[in-house]
Amino acid sequence: MPSVIGISPCRLLADYVESVRRAGGEPRVLDIAAEPPAQVMTAINGLLLPGGADIDPAWYGEEPSATIRLAEAGRDQFEIDLARLALAANLPTLAVCRGLQVLNVAAGGTLLQDIRSQIAGALDHSVETPLYAIAHEVWVSRGSRLWTLLQEKLTESEVCQVNSRHHQALKQIAGGFEVTATAPDGIVEAIERPDAKFCVGVQWHPENFWRTGEFRSLFEGFVAACE
Ligand code: MN
Repeated sequence: MPSVIGISPCRLLADYVESVRRAGGEPRVLDIAAEPPAQVMTAINGLLLPGGADIDPAWYGEEPSATIRLAEAGRDQFEIDLARLALAANLPTLAVCRGLQVLNVAAGGTLLQDIRSQIAGALDHSVETPLYAIAHEVWVSRGSRLWTLLQEKLTESEVCQVNSRHHQALKQIAGGFEVTATAPDGIVEAIERPDAKFCVGVQWHPENFWRTGEFRSLFEGFVAACE
């Protein structure tokens, strides 16, 4: 029986579904209106928190800046509840872009509301098309779970080329997590919980590369942890 991977619904869903399938998992797109998070937890072997618009800054105790673009109604609550349940149950979790931000906020961290207006000299992290366009490199921490899974892709200096479609980023990292990749401008590009079965978040979009397989090992590592 393949592991059932719950995926929160989002606008660009197809590439997540295909990436999970190609890694041997069975994608199950969740229904925010019909399935309470506690019920979802009984039906999945792993959780994939995907990309999307911004989390309401009230979740981390800030007033919204002028650049905020809020996500669909109900999505913050649903995903933060799910992330907290998954953390408490040690359910394998892969978090992508907004998902990484949800994971961090759910665990008590905070966000930078807008990179461009808050970080002088930051790289361009909003390269929108094509979805797999390489935007910048990231430096991956040797010995991390992410490093282990991406080893074949990394250069000798642990560098990896990624796409980038985010205007927000992690600020304070939640307790229990480690930063495992950064962009050359210091923006956090990945975190993980070293003591979890599998709890990895990346700020880029590995799902957009399923045709060429650049990040298949990341999805395979995730699905394997869900067995
Ligand atoms: Mn980026």
